[in-house]
Amino acid sequence: MSNTDLSNIEVNQKPVAKRSNPFANVFNELVSFCRSRSMFMLHYCTGCGAIELPPAMTSRFDMERLGIQPMVTPRQADILLITGYVSIKTLKRVILTYEQMGAPKYVIGICSCTVNGGMYWQSYATAKKLDEYIPVDLYIAGCMPRPEAVIEGLQQLMAKIKTDEANSWKKYYEHYDYYLGNQQHLFGNNWQTPTDIIGEAKTYQLEGPNTLGEHTKILESVQRPLEPLEMKL
Ligand code: SF4
Repeated sequence: MSNTDLSNIEVNQKPVAKRSNPFANVFNELVSFCRSRSMFMLHYCTGCGAIELPPAMTSRFDMERLGIQPMVTPRQADILLITGYVSIKTLKRVILTYEQMGAPKYVIGICSCTVNGGMYWQSYATAKKLDEYIPVDLYIAGCMPRPEAVIEGLQQLMAKIKTDEANSWKKYYEHYDYYLGNQQHLFGNNWQTPTDIIGEAKTYQLEGPNTLGEHTKILESVQRPLEPLEMKL
C-alpha cells in the first residue's frame, strides 16, 4: 500500500439533512399568535394626535374587535402609544412609564412630531426624534393621522408580533448606553430612573457589548437609593 496523503483524497460531502421536528415551533407560534391578538394599550397620550383615539376605540372603527383595549397601568400594558409632540418634561414621564412596562413591549409613534419634531422642529422645549430615547416599533406619520391610519398601523404591529419580528424592546437592553447617553444629554448627568435596566438586561440575557459604556458609568456614579416620596397635600 503506497503512502498516500489522506488529505489529498477527494471526499464527497453530501449535505447532511437536518432532522426537523414540525411541532418544535408550534408552541412559540401559538404564543406569538395569542400575543398579537390580545394587546393592552396604555392610557397615556401626548400631543394633539390623541384626539384620533376615541373614534378609533369606539363603535365606528372599534379597535376592540382586533383584541386591543385600553389599560390603565404600565405593568399590565403591552403597547405604549405616543400620540404627538413630546416636551422634554413629558419625555421623562414617557421613559419612566416605558421602563415600568413588562417585556415584551411595543412602542408606536403617532404623528409627524414623534418622527422628526414636526412643526416643533425648532422648539427648544420638545424632543425631536422619539427613537433616540426609547426604541420605537412603528411610526404612523401625519398631522394628525386619521383613525383608519391608526388601525392600519396597529394591524401592521400585530402582523410583526405574530411573526416574532417586533423585537425593538430588546434594543433598549442591548444598546442601553446609547439611549441613556441621549437621555443624559437632554436631562443632565444626574438623570436616573427607579428601574434597574442593567439588571433586567442580565435577567433577559440581553446584555451586549453596547449595554454598558461611558454613560452607564456616569449613572453608576450619581445613582442613589430611592427615597420614599413625601406626600404633600
Ligand atoms: S403632528 Fe400635528 S397633530 Fe400631531 S402632535 Fe404634531 S402638531 Fe399635533
